[in-house]
Formats: sequence, C-alpha cells, structure tokens
Amino acid sequence: MLAKQKPNLIYIVIAFTLIASGVFAQSHSPSIVLTDQEKNWLLEHPVIPVASDPLFPPVEFYDDQGIFSGISADFLSYIGKQLGVEFKAIRTSNWSDSVALVRSGAAYMLSAELKTSENERYYAFSKAYARFPNIILARENVVRKQSYEDLSGKRLAVVSDYPDMAIIKEKYPDIKIIEVKDVVTGLRATAFGQTDAMIIYQPVASYNLQKEGIANLHVVGVADFYSDTSFAVNKEYVILKSILDKALEAMPDEEKQRILNRWVLLKADLKFDYSPLIKIFLGASLIILLLAAWIFQSQHQKKRLQREIQIRRDKEEELNQVMGKLQEVNRELKTAVITDPLTGVMNRRGFYELMSAEHNRMIRYGGEIALLILDIDHFKMVNDRFGHNIGDRALRKVTEICTDIVRTIDVISRIGGEEFAILLPNTSTENATVLAERIRASVANITTKVDQGIKLKMTISIGVASYVKGDTPDSLLNKADQALYIAKNKGRNQVICHDEIQQTGTDGTI
Ligand code: GH3
Ligand code: MG
Ligand code: MG
Repeated sequence: MLAKQKPNLIYIVIAFTLIASGVFAQSHSPSIVLTDQEKNWLLEHPVIPVASDPLFPPVEFYDDQGIFSGISADFLSYIGKQLGVEFKAIRTSNWSDSVALVRSGAAYMLSAELKTSENERYYAFSKAYARFPNIILARENVVRKQSYEDLSGKRLAVVSDYPDMAIIKEKYPDIKIIEVKDVVTGLRATAFGQTDAMIIYQPVASYNLQKEGIANLHVVGVADFYSDTSFAVNKEYVILKSILDKALEAMPDEEKQRILNRWVLLKADLKFDYSPLIKIFLGASLIILLLAAWIFQSQHQKKRLQREIQIRRDKEEELNQVMGKLQEVNRELKTAVITDPLTGVMNRRGFYELMSAEHNRMIRYGGEIALLILDIDHFKMVNDRFGHNIGDRALRKVTEICTDIVRTIDVISRIGGEEFAILLPNTSTENATVLAERIRASVANITTKVDQGIKLKMTISIGVASYVKGDTPDSLLNKADQALYIAKNKGRNQVICHDEIQQTGTDGTI
C-alpha cells in the first residue's frame, strides 16, 4: 500500500536516509578480501566496460562535458580505485541500447538496474547500493492530495523499459500507463496535462524538476515499493558480481552517504508546496481585512454622514419652524400695524400706504378711482350720552354697514375717531356718489340696539372725490375732506361730491 500521509521534503529525506542506512548497515568490512581467482580476474580485466542509462540523472547520466556522472558513476569510481581497475562507461544514446550492449557481452555490466525476477534471467545482481523511494507527481490543479488508488483510471507516465513498469502493471492494473521515452519527457507530459501523474524515483524527480524548471508538479503520494538499485552483471562475468559485492561491503557508510548527499538534491520543490496556498490565504486574508476595514470605515462614515444629515435636517426643520413663526409674527405685526383694533378695518397708516400704491398704479396704467370720507354726525353726543363703550359699538356698527354695502375690491379704513374712508377702485364719480348715498341711507335708516333697551339712531355725512390727473393721495384726501366739510355745513346726513363744489361754486365757507 501507498503511504497515506502527505509527502514532504523532510519525510522523503528521512525515508531516503533511513532506507539508505538500512541497506548499508550490512557492510562493515574494512577491507576487500578477494579470492585469488577474483584477483586474477581483475588483473586480466583492468578496464571493465560498463553500460548505463545516459539520461537518468542523478542516478546516472552524461554531463555537459560528456563525462559519465551521477550516483552509479561515483560508486564505480570509488570501487574502481579500491580494486585498482577502471570501470569504463560506454556511452549509448538510450537505455535500451545500453541493455542490448550488456546482454551482448560488449559491456560487462549495467551500472544501475533494478533486481526483478525478469531481470534476474539476464543478470547477476550485486547487492543494492542505493534504495530510492518512488514518488507520484501530478499537476497542482489535477490532484491535490491523492493516493495511488485515487489514480485509478488516470494516465500515469512511466519511462519505457524501466523495471518499475512491470511492478506497477502488476500492482495497479487499473492505472492507465502511458509510456514515455525518458524522465524529462514524462515530467513535461505530466506538467502539460498529456498525462495525469508520473511515478518516479524521488531523487530523479527532484533533480530533473529543478534542472528543467518545471514548477507546476508536486508530490501527491509515495509508492509502496522502493527501487533497490544494484549493478547488473552479465552472467558470463558472474565473478565480477561477487567482486562488486565485496567492494560494496567494504565501502564505508560515510562514503556511500557522501555520494548520495552529493546527488540527492535537498530541494524544496518536492515537498508538498503550501506556499501558493499560503500566499492565496494571506492574500485573501489581506483582501478580506482591507474589505472589512473599508466596509467598517464606509459604514462608520455613512453613519456619521447620516447623523450629520439628520442633525442638519433637524436644524433646518427648526429653522423653518422659526422662520415660519417669524413670518407669521411679521404678518401679524404688519397686519396689526395697519389694522384698527376696534373695528378690524385698515387704520389710517395702512390706508395711506394703500392710496400711495393705488396712486402709482393710476400713474402707470390710468383708470378711475374714487374716495369717500364718512364722518358720524354729532358723535360726541353719543359718547356723552351713552358712554364710551356704547360709542365703540356704534363705531363697529357703522363699519359693519359699510362692509355689507361695498364690493370686495373696495377698501374701508377708520382714518380718525369717528371718521372713515372708503377707496373705490375702477369707480366713476357718479357710481361713487350712488354708493355713498346708499351707505348714508342705510346708516340713517337703521336703529341700533346698543344696550339695556337703548336704541341708537345715527346719521353720517359723506364727502366724495375722484382721482384726476395730477392728484396725489393727499390732494385726493383733501378734496374728499372739503366735500365732507360742505356736507357738515349744509346740515349733515348728506353726501357731497367734490365735483359739485366746483360746479356750483359751493365751498367750505358756506
Ligand atoms: P360733527 O357732527 O361735527 O362731526 O360732530 P361730532 O360730535 O361728531 O364731532 P367732534 O369732532 O366734535 O367729536 C368727535 C367725537 O368722537 C369726540 C370723541 O368723543 C368721539 N370719539 C373719537 N374717537 C372715539 C373712539 O374711539 N371711541 C368713542 N366712543 N368715541 C370716540
Ligand atoms: Mg363727527
Ligand atoms: Mg369727526
């Protein structure tokens, strides 16, 4: 079964180290003890041709200068020195050619091969000198955390002719195996989505991912089998197998570890890479924080604004109320200023302003305007006889009579104690005189019950004047006053028109 836990760098390195130590724990012999036969064989074969995988770094490969390099190369170099022979790598272009070379006997051994029952038919295997964990790589967006079983039905890249293939096929028949020609092709195919995952030795993955700059693959599982790597000797040279075994046994652990450390990259790329997740998390947290801060600030600002708006509205409302009251008071004041409190009609001041306005209108637009001035006859006697209160009621009664008779556009005013004026817009002298007569007659005909059965009969005298060009408010008042004066002089209870004075020559001297 596959290891279920998440593989990471530490896990892999520890596993690798333990495995390596386990393999090497058996070898403690300080020196190589060879038989005479073995010594002779070595003397007869000072150069031992070796075939290798040219494209399997860091296990074995040819470097940029074409020098055979890698873990197996270092092991052979060390062992060669110990044995006094040279292991000479015969370069091929691919693994299959190397296999053919050894099987034909042109090369004596493969420098790194897995001991499988199939392979044992061809080779005599030395002891394993390295044991590699196999890891499963996949694209970050394909599988996040997966076990081998989860890959069932998925496409798994495996390098052609590698012994792993037989193991995988046997162990996991559900996995769809896509054969690739070498490790880099497999890694690229997986990185570009042509295959879903790739199973590979951990150090090989580590080395190639870094070298190829492939960043979107990560470890999704560790296979439950290890690749014990040995020298595979052509059975014709089986003596070489026992020599190699002895050399490996005699090889100090530190030397083995030194070689592995040199080639097994402690590369962070292979750990389960949380950094994008952490970055996304941190980024998202930052965005959320900023958003929260912004929302908080906006809400705060909104509330503050709303409060301010409310306060302003309240103030405006208050101000409006105050203004309304002020206007009301002003209106009242204005009305009070021009209103006679006893009768409720306009007072002299208001009437004079009105006459000025009418006068201006006449100048601008022309038209007719007439003025009546009424005075209660012998009113002093009313007061004297009945008292001031009764006098006041009598004044109100005369006002009522006038109000009932005049039109709505006509304006009544109490301009003196018992003296009234009535302004008659758009009214001819004749019509004004007729109206004056009606008022006079009404007052004269009415008997007013004033108090405790007291009946009061009053008469009034009226002067009529009409506006003529050149008149001013004062001159018009004067004319009406003159007519009133004549009416009084002529015996009261009558209407005199100013025009009549001029026509008849009657004046105040009569
Ligand atoms: P005439 O016919 O010549 O107009 O005589 P008269 O008595 O009406 O005129 P006079 O000017 O001699 O007297 C006016 C009187 O009006 C004096 C005053 O007692 C009275 N009067 C003036 N204002 C008021 C008022 O507000 N209330 C009352 N009750 N009487 C007033
Ligand atoms: Mg009077
Ligand atoms: Mg008077």
